[in-house]
Parts: sequence; C-alpha cells; structure tokens
Amino acid sequence: MDLGISGKRALVCASSKGLGRGCATMLAANGVNLVMNARGAEALNQTAAEIREAYGVEVVTVPADITTDAGRAEVLKAAGEVDILVTNAGGPPPGSWQDWEREDFIKALDANMLTPIALMKALLPGMMDRGWGRVVNITSQSVKAPIAVLGLSNSARAGLTGYVAGTSRQVAGKGVIINNLLPGIHATDRAVSLDTTVAAQTGVTLEEAMDRRAATIPAGRYGTAEEFGATCAFLCSQYAGFIVGQNILLDGGATNATL
Ligand code: NAP
Repeated sequence: MDLGISGKRALVCASSKGLGRGCATMLAANGVNLVMNARGAEALNQTAAEIREAYGVEVVTVPADITTDAGRAEVLKAAGEVDILVTNAGGPPPGSWQDWEREDFIKALDANMLTPIALMKALLPGMMDRGWGRVVNITSQSVKAPIAVLGLSNSARAGLTGYVAGTSRQVAGKGVIINNLLPGIHATDRAVSLDTTVAAQTGVTLEEAMDRRAATIPAGRYGTAEEFGATCAFLCSQYAGFIVGQNILLDGGATNATL
C-alpha cells in the first residue's frame, strides 16, 4: 500500500536507536526525508548513513538533548518546516513511590510531557498554515495501565495524554492529525536496561528475566522496533486523517482490558 507521504519531511526525535529508529526507518522506507536527533553523535550518524543507503532519502542529523531548551532550539532550527513530527525521548528511571522527590518529577515532566508539548507548540502552526500535518507521540502502555516501578513515567505521560486529547481536536480541522503510540515491551536497549535491573534485584540471569517478562505477554514475545515503526508510518499516512487524538497500544495483548 502506498502511504502517500513520499517527499514529505519528518522530524523524528530520539531516533538513533530503538523505537525512534524504527519510526525513522519506516518513514524513510515510505520515501519521507528525515531530520533525526539523539544526544550521541556517533550512533546517530551511523543510523542516518544506514537509512540513506537503504532508502535514498535525505537525512539531516542534529546531535542534541531534545529535553533541554537549547537542544530543542537547535533541532527546530535545523528542521525548519516539517510535515511530520515524531516526539520521543528516553524514559524516566524505575524506582519506588516513596523515593521520588519534586526534582525527579520535574525531570520526568520536562522530558516526557513538556518537551513534546513544546515541539508541538513550535511546529503545529506551520502545519496548520500549510493544511497538512501528522504528529505521533511515543508514550507508553503505562498510560492505560500503570507500571508500579515507573511512577515517573505513569505521571508525566498521563499529563501529555491529556494535552493531546484536547489539542488534537482543535487542529484536526486544519488537516493536522495528532495521535499517541503506546509501546508495551519492545526489544530495545531500554527494555534490556529495565530487565538488567530486575535480574540484579531478583538474582536471576538477564535471559531468565527476559523470558519471565515475555511470558507475561499473550503474544509470547517482545515487540520489534520495525512493527512499531510501521504503525507509526501508517499514522503519518494520508489514510490516517480520520484517526484523531487516539492512544494506540502496541503491547502484544499484555494490557488485560476489554477497551
Ligand atoms: P532506547 O532503545 O533506549 O533508545 C532511546 C533513543 O533515544 C536513543 O536513540 C537515544 O540516543 C535517544 N535519546 C534518549 N534520550 C534522549 C534525549 N534526551 N535527547 C535526544 N535523544 C535521546 O529506548 P526505546 O526502548 O526506544 O524507548 C523509547 C521511548 O519509549 C522511551 O521513552 C521509553 O521509556 C518508551 N517505552 C519503551 C518501551 C520498551 O519496551 N522499549 C516500553 C514502554 C515505553 P542517545 O542516548 O544517544 O541520546
């Protein structure tokens, strides 16, 4: 199926690895030119080179911390006019509700709520003027069902979800479509890092920790960045114009809910 977005320009934040990389790759596979970002320049440039080589699209790289004002300013300057925005950043660290202080919440809110909001605020007006735009925010399954050790994520992402619910309905009439993608467990560095913590805390090997977590997923496995990226590309397509302000869960059935 031709998604009808060849030649569009996308800013994909935090995209040298993992889910962001999956989204960048599948947009490129559909002919979208990219502005890619991550903090580490080496992995970012390597990923960009692989995408250029595979799909022949233009790729601009901006090494910067997207969660800082200075980093965002640099990324937005390089991005210029974009048709598609995929927001993403690293997730907050795990912990326990007794331990988090105000500063921990401020960091999580900055990274996982206020950064995507600032990016939307900067880029939505141009998309609305041009009459077409797509925004996909990478959030988490923790929006649908809280994950006990990820209270900082549960909180910050719930705030972003409320903002998107209200804002998406104010811009859809101008052809600008905003949705959230909610990853369950996917095989990325982030998942390995969380599994490593669990393995150390419970005295099992990393492999055992991963097998135990995979067994909690009805699909019986972790998701892949490629599957995630393909869903993102569809939400950025010409065919997604009637999907407004939704929270789409990709979790292999892990969240046990009827709706
Ligand atoms: P990942 O494999 O660790 O990749 C994170 C990517 O983001 C890397 O390219 C990293 O590059 C970049 N990045 C991190 N912090 C950044 C920052 N401040 N500014 C710019 N780039 C940054 O993570 P992932 O698994 O793809 O997860 C992506 C998001 O989905 C996270 O918010 C995570 O919490 C959420 N999520 C993931 C899962 C899962 O199972 N994987 C499940 C639920 C939610 P640099 O380090 O070089 O900056």
